[in-house]
Amino acid sequence: MSDCIFCRIIAGEIPSPRLYEDEKMIVIRDINPQAPMHLLLIPKEHYPNIAEMTAKQATTLARCLRTFAKLADGFGLSGGFRIISNKGADACQTVNHLHIHILGGEKLSENMNCSPDLPI
Ligand code: 5GP
Ligand code: ZN
Repeated sequence: MSDCIFCRIIAGEIPSPRLYEDEKMIVIRDINPQAPMHLLLIPKEHYPNIAEMTAKQATTLARCLRTFAKLADGFGLSGGFRIISNKGADACQTVNHLHIHILGGEKLSENMNCSPDLPI
C-alpha cells in the first residue's frame, strides 16, 4: 500500500535501520520510544490489525513472535519485555498496518497504567 508508512519502510522507500529481517517480518526501533528499548515487529504483509487478520496471517504472526522471542536476549531484553498491539481509536492506533510493540530495557510499570483517568 503506497500510502502506508510501514509498507514504505518495508519497501525501503523510507530508510529505517532493521534490527532483524526475514521473509515475513522486520524489526525496527520505534521512532518515539516509550521505554529504553521500544521495538516494532512488523509483518511484511499489510493488514490493519488483529481484528482483520486471516487465520493464515495469524499463523505467520505467531511464527514471527516465536522467532522474535528467540532473539530477544540479543536485543538487550534478557530481563523481559512487554508486547502490545493497538487496535482502533480507543487504543490510539495510528498506523493501520499491524505491528507489535515490544517494550523493555528496564523494569516496566507493574500496572498497565494506560488510562489517563485512573490514578497511578
Ligand atoms: P500505533 O499508535 O499505531 O500503535 O503505533 C505506531 C507507532 O509507530 C508509534 O509508536 C510511532 O512512534 C511509530 N512510528 C510512526 N512512524 C514511524 C516511522 O517512520 N519510523 C519508526 N521507526 N516508527 C514510526
Ligand atoms: Zn502497510
